[in-house]
Amino acid sequence: MGPAAERIPGGRPDGQAVIAGHGWYVRGTGDMQMPSGTWGCFYVEDGIGLRQSVGLAIEKGEQIKPTKIVGPGKPVPNYTVAPGPCSARSSNPTWGRSIWRSAGSTATRGAEEQEMTYYPDLSPYSYDQSSRDMLNVGWLSPKHGYSKGLVDERVVEALKVLCAAYENQMRGIHHCEFCDADRPFVFGGPTSNTKVLLGSAEIRVEGEDGTYYAAPNLMLHYMTEHEYCPPEDFCQAAVRAAGLEAAEELTLVE
Ligand SMILES: [Zn+2]
Repeated sequence: MGPAAERIPGGRPDGQAVIAGHGWYVRGTGDMQMPSGTWGCFYVEDGIGLRQSVGLAIEKGEQIKPTKIVGPGKPVPNYTVAPGPCSARSSNPTWGRSIWRSAGSTATRGAEEQEMTYYPDLSPYSYDQSSRDMLNVGWLSPKHGYSKGLVDERVVEALKVLCAAYENQMRGIHHCEFCDADRPFVFGGPTSNTKVLLGSAEIRVEGEDGTYYAAPNLMLHYMTEHEYCPPEDFCQAAVRAAGLEAAEELTLVE
């Protein structure tokens, strides 16, 4: 791909890169595989033109709901993007897509291991004695399916802030059962300089309606590495609790 004909000044507030152009699908070209860590978002059905106003909104990072999203490793039609300045018109369908990249996290190895307890999202919390009623979020296990999708970067930022002020240190270290990164960590807290081991404590947040949620801090790793999409209400609560500006929707389930 050659140099871009134009770059929108300022960039997107979320830092994501959007490659915009015109293109089409050549019959018989088959599928390609969405690269790891990359999401494809489609904003119109095949063969329908993407309105300029919608295209610009996507490029500027406004919250536009895709009609379809394709996660890493999933097949996607092998579209051809028109080279050079855009000249494709009428007969060629216009399409738009936005590439979202999930935040990477660093992992170290070692540590004693303990099997993670599984609870379905939004089931009543019972892992530990607690004076208040709480709902479970993010207690995943490879033996059970879980919700996958796109999560707004603000949720990751919020959880990084919140995980440094954990209430409930867990017993032992829970390693990730989906990969062999058994001691992941993040730099969290209000100034992002507190090293927090994931798998060692819980994150607890209160929603606007007074609902409390209890989540293992390992959920941050599930989100950034395993496409986990927590419940929308929990994400809203986390973003609010961290003092970040919320959006109408913070999650898109695949
Ligand atoms: Zn993992």
